[in-house]
Amino acid sequence: MLKKMAIGVACAALAAAALQIQVSAQQQAPARRAVGGTTAGNDAYPTDDQWKNSKEAQALIAKAKAAAGNDAKLQSRFEKACTVLGPQRPAVLRQNAGLPAEPQRQIDIVKLFDNFYFFGFNTVGAWAVTTSQGIILIDSLNTVDEAEKIIEPSLIKAGLKPADVKTIIVGHGHFDHFGGAPYFQQKYGSHVVMSKLDWDMIEKPNPNARGPQANRPLPKRDVEVVSDGQKVTLGDETITLRITPGHTPGTLAYYIPVKDHGKQINILMLSGANITPDRTSLDAFKKALDAAKSMKVQALINGHPGLFGDEIGWMEQVRANPNGPNPFVLTVDEFARFADIMKDCAEARLVAMDHKAATN
Ligand SMILES: [Zn+2]
Repeated sequence: MLKKMAIGVACAALAAAALQIQVSAQQQAPARRAVGGTTAGNDAYPTDDQWKNSKEAQALIAKAKAAAGNDAKLQSRFEKACTVLGPQRPAVLRQNAGLPAEPQRQIDIVKLFDNFYFFGFNTVGAWAVTTSQGIILIDSLNTVDEAEKIIEPSLIKAGLKPADVKTIIVGHGHFDHFGGAPYFQQKYGSHVVMSKLDWDMIEKPNPNARGPQANRPLPKRDVEVVSDGQKVTLGDETITLRITPGHTPGTLAYYIPVKDHGKQINILMLSGANITPDRTSLDAFKKALDAAKSMKVQALINGHPGLFGDEIGWMEQVRANPNGPNPFVLTVDEFARFADIMKDCAEARLVAMDHKAATN
């Protein structure tokens, strides 16, 4: 009897000790948050405490908030851009909020500008830029199978010819951007453009690749982007590229002239470049946004929809009312302020990481 009691007490003590260990582990280790794909993972971002307690970071956030002023479009973009994890994919935000994952759904091809189309999925898509001499595809979905079953039929549905895809620009060397490129390269001889750094990255064996990822074909090395300002020209269209590391070593940003109801405007596309875990990547990001300002850019499009607003909803708005105002388009002044907001919020995340918790 005594022995039984002793065991009972010992078990309770052990359980209490285990609980204690659990509690103190929770107190010490910062919460592991889901973050957008970057090898630095959580280390690419400050902790919640650093974000709240760094005076320097808070000053930058206040400056960004002031830049948004009472412009509702900029206020909503500020809310997305100026958080501890920065603009993240909706799927990541749902995961962190403990919500169930939303199933991936296909988005019917939609003409966002006179010469610019989106198609693919709610989570990741591809774009077609039409020119006087064929099509420039930007990104190519996840797989060769999707190139055949989604990209080709989408282009045909919009009255475009898949055989006209002369060039594919791959924003960065992850499968959800280059997966379909080998299909077009082999079938139509399309040229594949990617930064040299990311060609190098994808050609290295990836020890973390599993199952179908490990066996997915790569595009053959083709056009390398090696410098800021390098251009891709097809017919009457010239896209200017910049290298904005952070998400991958050679993630690209591109400036694309498009026509919005006949009016020429410039748009900026970022391919995961909101991730700026170090000074080098932050500086490149700031330069890319400054260049956009000087080119009087009026819209930001991201490789993954939903980072800076309800972009899938905006696309449906364009589809439903093609002659109405385009929700992606800002005034030149609004875009310049938006660029400053993005720069300040990225800088705030970086300086917050230097904040040391007060010891007492
Ligand atoms: Zn990626």
